[in-house]
Amino acid sequence: MNISPQRSPDPAAAAADGATTPGVGTRLDPWLGHYANRTHGMKASEIRALFAVANRPEVVSLAGGMPFLAGLPLETISEVTAKLLAERGAVALQYGSGQGEEAFREQILEVMRAEHIRAHSDDVVVTTGSQQALDLVTRIFIDPGDVIVAEAPSYVGALGVFRAYQADVVHAPMDADGLIPEALEESLADLAAQGRTVKLLYTVPNFHNPGGVTLSRERRPQIVEIAQRFGVLILEDNPYGLLGFDEDPLPALHTYAPESVIYLGSFSKTFAPGYRVGWALAPHAVRERLVLAAESAILCPSMMSQLSISTYLSTCDWRGQIKSFREVYRERRDAMIGALAEFLPTASWTHPRGGFYTWVQMPEGLDTQDMLPRAVTELVAYVPGTAFYADGQGKEFMRLSYCYPTPERIREGVRRLSTVVNNELDL
Ligand code: PMP
Repeated sequence: MNISPQRSPDPAAAAADGATTPGVGTRLDPWLGHYANRTHGMKASEIRALFAVANRPEVVSLAGGMPFLAGLPLETISEVTAKLLAERGAVALQYGSGQGEEAFREQILEVMRAEHIRAHSDDVVVTTGSQQALDLVTRIFIDPGDVIVAEAPSYVGALGVFRAYQADVVHAPMDADGLIPEALEESLADLAAQGRTVKLLYTVPNFHNPGGVTLSRERRPQIVEIAQRFGVLILEDNPYGLLGFDEDPLPALHTYAPESVIYLGSFSKTFAPGYRVGWALAPHAVRERLVLAAESAILCPSMMSQLSISTYLSTCDWRGQIKSFREVYRERRDAMIGALAEFLPTASWTHPRGGFYTWVQMPEGLDTQDMLPRAVTELVAYVPGTAFYADGQGKEFMRLSYCYPTPERIREGVRRLSTVVNNELDL
């Protein structure tokens, strides 16, 4: 049996001219010809590439979406974790159910009730962050070439998953009130006329990443009705829903049509991302395949993480904690918006009512991707707009995050950014 990778007659020569013909290795990667087709669309996230530089203390990073964790009651958490290990260590460190612990899924229902969601714990699947839920849903629904309609712009991590499964992403526009129903309807009608199969509508209705906008109450039932009419399943991604600054959460899309929506939630932003726990609430029929896909991917979600969060939910004031996170983020949003008005009056931006991000449009002619190295030289980082589109749009946009730096650092970061922008524009 031949287990060595397939090579060209002269691999060194192939490497020298950078040959990448399928089936041909190079000196750098002798397995080059062996990768699955689906890996060809994979590319490094622009955000991840930035992290190495942006994390240097002298750089003000307005790039990443890292939650602010300094406010967590770490002492209490360490006490309850020690108690958990002492009393239930043998369970917490063991394998568990592929769907997630029943008692924990009941607690997740309680978290979702804050958004008026009524469901059964049987339909909840615990995942390794909502990122894994995105992967599992895409895995069970998407064949290469199937269409996913997604907002323009869209969460970069979702686009990465969709690309990995060779979906064709078609963007639908948003305005200050989120996804525009008429535009969605037009796009779905166009795709139907072309005979294209649209499998999913991917949407982040609350405090959009990266758009910073929220789907209005009036539009919610309209979006659901349009998707239902065209037979499209909605993938509602909602990690920021409980982090609204001004009002109670709006009803989730799931509340309008539980059989047409897969809802994704996460503890990453409301508690801590280090546990890597999220969940999918799926129509009953879908849930079964989702669990099978999850089991084949990871056997079961981490018991330690599930039981730790479960203990946190039952012994700590998690609602109070979320309230205090909201206050921190509101203050930072104000700092960001104030600094933009002060230093970058020629730009325009969205006004987030919750979450972590604002979406900024730069003056015409400016290319944010091209400008990024010069911004990093000026010790400020952001994510260029092109990262959030599947089709190369977004050059004049950038995503600015206000979740992690203090208000003072946010102001300083935007001031530095304005210096870079003014240089670009020759002002
Ligand atoms: N969806 C959106 C819109 C996000 O912003 C993120 C994290 N940045 C995720 C999903 C994934 O979050 P996690 O895997 O930590 O739950």
